[in-house]
Amino acid sequence: MTKNFAEKSVKKSFLGMVALMSATSILCNSCNQKNDKKESEKMIRKDHPVAKIVPKIDDDENILDPDKRVIYLTFDDGPNHGTENLLKILHKRNVCATAFLVGKHAYGSKKQQEDLQLLRNDKLVELANHSFTHAHNKYTDFYKDPIAVIHDFDTAKDSLKLYDKIARTPGRNIWRLNNITITDLKSSTEAANSLKKAGYKVIGWDLEWKPTNKMALKGDHEAMLKKVDSIFFNDLEKTSRHLVFLTHDQYLTDADSVNELDLFIEKLQKSNRFVFRKISEYPGINEILN
Ligand SMILES: [Zn+2]
Repeated sequence: MTKNFAEKSVKKSFLGMVALMSATSILCNSCNQKNDKKESEKMIRKDHPVAKIVPKIDDDENILDPDKRVIYLTFDDGPNHGTENLLKILHKRNVCATAFLVGKHAYGSKKQQEDLQLLRNDKLVELANHSFTHAHNKYTDFYKDPIAVIHDFDTAKDSLKLYDKIARTPGRNIWRLNNITITDLKSSTEAANSLKKAGYKVIGWDLEWKPTNKMALKGDHEAMLKKVDSIFFNDLEKTSRHLVFLTHDQYLTDADSVNELDLFIEKLQKSNRFVFRKISEYPGINEILN
């Protein structure tokens, strides 16, 4: 493994790799990735003098143990009912996640304002853009007007003070990265292309834990674990070895749902086959869109 890393480093610019590894070590501490951290330490010990280069974390294959798969836990529609429970689970398991926030939810109630601050101050959590209005839950109309869609995401970006332009479209599983273009419903294509043109990296999901009609998590963690295995086994993930998982804060209001999500994460961790990352570490997401 060490030899492998060294060979790749020379080929792909050793200086950049050292910086990359330094940054990864920091990220991994919060994401519970012990194996990656060990690799990072090996590189840092080489003690190169220009280790402060700002890293570009886009060359995942160099830092991912070939036996591991990456899971990106993402939670939509916060701040919301369930946000506090979500944070409790993340801390209990010391696992990182990404919160795709809805701008107007931050103004919904005092509790939501407080939860936004909890999310913002939490090192395990990364914030991303899920629009300001959530399309008022009228998706077909919303996507008919690409200019209004961009405006809605810009409004969320400004009001939530988001620095990145990583976005997820409400009600649609749409992807617009350099190497992934997917639109689940064709009528949203123009709006999705416009978001990309405006600089938004639009990311959907590979697997969703859906709700019951009572807004609790549907099915148990064992069933979800099987789905994770099935996606990797059948190569159904958008990027090989990387799975974007989605559920929603508001499904985490009852004890059973909280327990099931907790068990899901615990068993993923204990299997020792997975590492967890924030969405800004998804392969290629930091590339400038073209
Ligand atoms: Zn949503």
